[in-house]
Amino acid sequence: TEVDSGAPTIFDKIISKEIPSTIVYEDEKVLAFRDINPQAPVHVLVIPKLRDGLTELGKAEPCHEDILGHLLHASKIVAEKEGIVDGFRVVINSGASACQSVYHLHLHVLGGRQMKWPPG
Ligand code: 5GP
Repeated sequence: TEVDSGAPTIFDKIISKEIPSTIVYEDEKVLAFRDINPQAPVHVLVIPKLRDGLTELGKAEPCHEDILGHLLHASKIVAEKEGIVDGFRVVINSGASACQSVYHLHLHVLGGRQMKWPPG
């Protein structure tokens, strides 16, 4: 059985398809779906199907290296599938000060407009 200290989140219901989402990419390990409150023309969330303790990036351990790499590569596939040719941004909010609101690790893939730097 999995050891995972965090409470279930809305993303569990998205993974189980209890709550509908617009899936743009899926493989055995990750699910990518459109953010319900998009901050750019393309705004997709990429999440591990198994949270496995990764409530946030700040909880990452060496055992998570494979899934972390897989999530980053999946983000590139999402950008490609979304037709982004001129650059995209990948954001991970970890913890309250970073405005994380859902405690199941997720990568935001943002694109389709000119981004600003630094972010707020
Ligand atoms: P965070 O603030 O934790 O980095 O990002 C959480 C993201 O999840 C937010 O951008 C929010 O819009 C998105 N979100 C929250 N609930 C839902 C939902 O039920 N469906 C979808 N597609 N996105 C959600």
